[in-house]
Order: sequence, then C-alpha cells, then structure tokens
Amino acid sequence: MAARLIDGKALAQQVRERLATESAELFEKSGIRPGLATILVGDDPASHVYVKNKQKACELAGIYVDDHKLPAATTQSELLALIEKKNADPKIHGILVQLPLPKHIDSKVILEAVSPLKDADGFHPYNFGRLVEGHPVFEACTPKGVIKMIESTGVPIEGKRAVVVGRSNIVGKPLALMLLQRNATVTICHSKTKDLPAVCREAELLLVAIGKAKFVTADMVREGAVVIDVGTNKTPEGKLCGDVDFEPVSRLAGWISPVPGGVGPMTIAMLLENTVESAKRTAGLT
Ligand code: NDP
Repeated sequence: MAARLIDGKALAQQVRERLATESAELFEKSGIRPGLATILVGDDPASHVYVKNKQKACELAGIYVDDHKLPAATTQSELLALIEKKNADPKIHGILVQLPLPKHIDSKVILEAVSPLKDADGFHPYNFGRLVEGHPVFEACTPKGVIKMIESTGVPIEGKRAVVVGRSNIVGKPLALMLLQRNATVTICHSKTKDLPAVCREAELLLVAIGKAKFVTADMVREGAVVIDVGTNKTPEGKLCGDVDFEPVSRLAGWISPVPGGVGPMTIAMLLENTVESAKRTAGLT
C-alpha cells in the first residue's frame, strides 16, 4: 500500500491562517502587532529569496516586518549595534538573522547577541539549554515543524521508536530532544554510525536530515513507518530533492513527506508561530 502524503505546504497554510486570526485578536486585545526584524547581510541570491519568502509569509499572518538589508562589507560591530537596537525595540518580538553571514563575521557571536526573548529562530544557546532541560521557550523552527508534521498524521509519538539521522545543532539534535520530550525512544545517527540501515529499519518514526540526495533507500525503512525528509539537495538537473529516495520508500512507508512541499514551508510557518507566541508573551497572554 502506498504511503499517505504529509503535505507541508497545506499544513503551513493552515498555520498561517490560524496565526492571522491570533495576530488580529492580539491587536484587538492589547494594541500589539507581532513584529519580526529580518536582517540580511550581503548579496547571496538564495538568501535574498529565503528572506523574501519569509517576509511574504509574515504579511499573510498579520506580522509586521522590519526589513534590514546590509551591504556585504558591514562589520561585525555594525551588525551587533543593529541587533542591540532591535533587542530594545518594543515593536519587535522576533529577530531573524539570515545565515550564512559573510566570512568576516562570526555567526556564533551574532546569534548569541540576539536577545533570548526575541530568538524567533530558536538558535540561542539559552533556548537550546531550555529545550535540553525540557522547558522550551523558543524552539528551532525546522525541528518544531517536523514535530507538527508527525502530529498531523495522528500517529502518537509517545512510546514510539524514533530514529533521527543527522545531529546538527539546528535540526538533528533539537529534533531528538523534542521527540524525547514527547516520550519517544530516540536514537540519533550520524556519519560514524555502524550499520545505519539496520538502525533505520527499527524506526517507527524515521526523521532524516543529512543533506545527501536519495540517501535513504527502501531497504532502510520499516513497513508502515512515518518518514520525514528534511534534506534539501539539488539533482544534477538542478531540481530540488530530499535525502529520501521518495518513490520506492513511499511504497513501503505509512506516511511520507515530499521535497519540495514538506519541511521547507513548515519551517517558515514555525518562524511566524514563534514570533506570534513571543508577542503574546510580551502582552502577558500566555
Ligand atoms: P549538517 O551538514 O549540519 O549536518 C548533517 C548531519 O548529517 C551531520 O550530523 C552528519 O554527521 C550527518 N551525516 C552526513 N552524512 C551521513 C551519512 N552518510 N550517514 C549518516 N549521517 C550522515 O546539515 P543540517 O542539519 O544543517 O541540514 C541537513 C539537511 O537538511 C540539508 O540538506 C539542509 O539543506 C536541510 N535543511 C532543510 C531545512 C528546511 O527548512 N527544509 C532547514 C535546515 C536544513 P556528522 O555529525 O557525523 O558529520
């Protein structure tokens, strides 16, 4: 039987519509409109497209966008000064610094300069630490989106055997922690894992974030598993494709997310959700 599709695009639209209602209600109750500052340094064309998409999504969700496009020659101290200003700006509830930053700027220093109270991307060590403790405030957008996608299937996470392939600080590790918090039994795999196919075959929830096109093949997937593909890779023909070999795996899995149209749109939706939740906290409504 073919797997059912987890439609990230449709789910993201539902999230945006809900957030538009919540933003309007918040404004009515408190006069606060959720605000996101977007900061982009340099001319990387892909980054410009990503930021534009995020800004468009914000508008659809009733979020005010404070746009900052800085030249590639911007110094680290100039960028830090802008972040300080946004940290103190009461109209701003989330700050997005688009990565990658130019090489002369230390991303770690910049991400740690963002106030943990406005950390809409969920990358600040304070928020990562809160997640480790099991008391998250801002959660990283991509893993948060993956959790919502699993929840949308109706398959309970509790008690499930979950395998996360990839251990980056922005996807694999936080995702594993979020699954653990929801009482899954979690295994984290990486490039040194021995007999990865055997470990993956144990997974009732298989979450893949490695960045290698069609790496996960059907022989690595348990029948009926929920398979979520975070990977974004380019085929030699220039098409976008995931880390999972979609066609053969979808004949075996219970649920599967596509690329494109899976995790990508949900990542943006979670950035919006984090911003609206932050504005609600400011208003004392959560
Ligand atoms: P990183 O490159 O930071 O991490 C990749 C991870 O995969 C590492 O932990 C690495 O292991 C592991 N890995 C690499 N090769 C193998 C292998 N052969 N077997 C097992 N594990 C392996 O990537 P990210 O986490 O940032 O991103 C992963 C993918 O997700 C990328 O394609 C990226 O574009 C995509 N992505 C998509 C997003 C979206 O919104 N759709 C958002 C963020 C990422 P080790 O640690 O041992 O090196």
